[in-house]
Amino acid sequence: MASAKYIFVTGGVTSSLGKGIISASLAKLLQARGFSVTIQKFDPYINIDPGTLNPYEHGECFVTDDGAETDLDLGHYERFLNTPTSQANNVTTGRIYNHVITQERQGAYLGKTVQVVPHITDEIKRRMLLLGQTGEFDVVITEIGGCVGDIESLPFIEAVRQLRWELSPTDSMVIHLTLLPYLKAAGELKTKPTQHSVRALSEAGVQPDVLVCRSEYPIPAEMRKKIALFCNVAPNAVIESLDAETIYDVPLLMKKEKLDERAMKKLKLTSRQDINLDSWKEFLGRLKNPTEEVKIALVGKYVELPDAYKSIIEAFIHAGAFNECKVHLKFIQSEQISFENVSSHLQHMDGVLVAPGFGERGFEGKLEAIRYVRESGIPFFGICLGMQCAAVEFARNVLGWTDAASTEMNPTTSYPVIDMMEEQKQVTQKGGTMRLGSYECDLKRGSKAYQAYGKGHIQERHRHRYEFNNKYLEAFQEAGMIASGINPTTGLVEVVELQNHPWFVGAQYHPELKSTVLSPHPLFVRFIKAAITHTKNRNK
Ligand code: GLN
Repeated sequence: MASAKYIFVTGGVTSSLGKGIISASLAKLLQARGFSVTIQKFDPYINIDPGTLNPYEHGECFVTDDGAETDLDLGHYERFLNTPTSQANNVTTGRIYNHVITQERQGAYLGKTVQVVPHITDEIKRRMLLLGQTGEFDVVITEIGGCVGDIESLPFIEAVRQLRWELSPTDSMVIHLTLLPYLKAAGELKTKPTQHSVRALSEAGVQPDVLVCRSEYPIPAEMRKKIALFCNVAPNAVIESLDAETIYDVPLLMKKEKLDERAMKKLKLTSRQDINLDSWKEFLGRLKNPTEEVKIALVGKYVELPDAYKSIIEAFIHAGAFNECKVHLKFIQSEQISFENVSSHLQHMDGVLVAPGFGERGFEGKLEAIRYVRESGIPFFGICLGMQCAAVEFARNVLGWTDAASTEMNPTTSYPVIDMMEEQKQVTQKGGTMRLGSYECDLKRGSKAYQAYGKGHIQERHRHRYEFNNKYLEAFQEAGMIASGINPTTGLVEVVELQNHPWFVGAQYHPELKSTVLSPHPLFVRFIKAAITHTKNRNK
């Protein structure tokens, strides 16, 4: 078995430079050349995983098929590569320490002092190599979260240093992402922060092979030479990364800058095929030349930070491109929606999505939004909490059970139409304890969900504690809200839809987590189609 090649991606100067997108873009280019590639992210924080973080803190929590709660960059990896990731693709400092400390209690290091070096760094190295040892991948790209120079990322950088020493020189490389700030007053790009950040990395014993420099302006040739000289890299190893119109342009921009060729040269890889980005380019063509446009409201409580809904936003981009339709997303804070103002918020919308979420804040506003679209025939898509809200709204306003609720919001309601799952009632621990990951679902023939997927059996990803209360299912179905998707083993309601409505679908699972550039999610595709029809009818 040939061993995998390892590419480490570090970042300096500031965070938010887009290491995830650069990693995913390089991976895409290598994949297009016939290599099998995976990307993993090592995050320096102490949480075992981002599952317990507030979305305001860290953006969306991305859930994998195997039920791992992970960093949102894994979403980018999947959307670019069209291949699933797993728990092994996301490791935090907390997870490393947890493992080492558990081992220590089990006597694994009996008699020894357990230390950051070598015990923590050994465990980091073990995990960095893990996916490469499965034989599944030619290339493993490891993105190191945070910035070089941060106290907390030191053990990761030290692990990279050791691995570079241990692996053959052609089996690993380091790409360092930095920023060239533009000083308006001086009218210049500045290289000093890049020099300092490369120096910090070198002081830790890691010399980068390639620098990817984020810049708002093209980098003059002379400046590239200067950066190369002072940062000790080959002149053609200074790669320019300009702001892109869309993140999906970045693979092509990186190809133009020959990032993939630099990597292949360093790792002594020869392309397995002529680079094939046909379907990627086709997607970009449709994305950039829309023939339709729709306005979609995204109703949620974390709307101030769009990263909280990253996968939903991207799923709209995929589904929009598929339909050659420009999707204008309008974020609406659900707390601001009331009976009095709902029509002014939503009457011009072609579709309304009610987002996933937790807790009471903004719940009533979501119900108002749903009542409005149910009554006015605007296409509706509810995801997870959004689906649960649709059930509560229907119970209150159609079935007339005025105090119906989810027990998450009102534990003493007389109509708990959404209730905590039985298996969740015993759970006290937080983090990794919800119903997580991929589960089966059977779809009802003839339903909108069935039409969208074009098949009757699907698997989708979950992250929830509450579920539709089957005690009330019959009443719901008789009144026109049907369960069109059911888990075949447990009977849990996975999809609800309204029969006398142009398009009203709620999913207990998270379809957005499986939407990729090459496989846009069928429910998003159909929702956009319904929105296009709605706008046409409105303008007749
Ligand atoms: N809070 C709801 C539950 O736990 C919905 C979760 C979600 O939207 N992801 O069931």
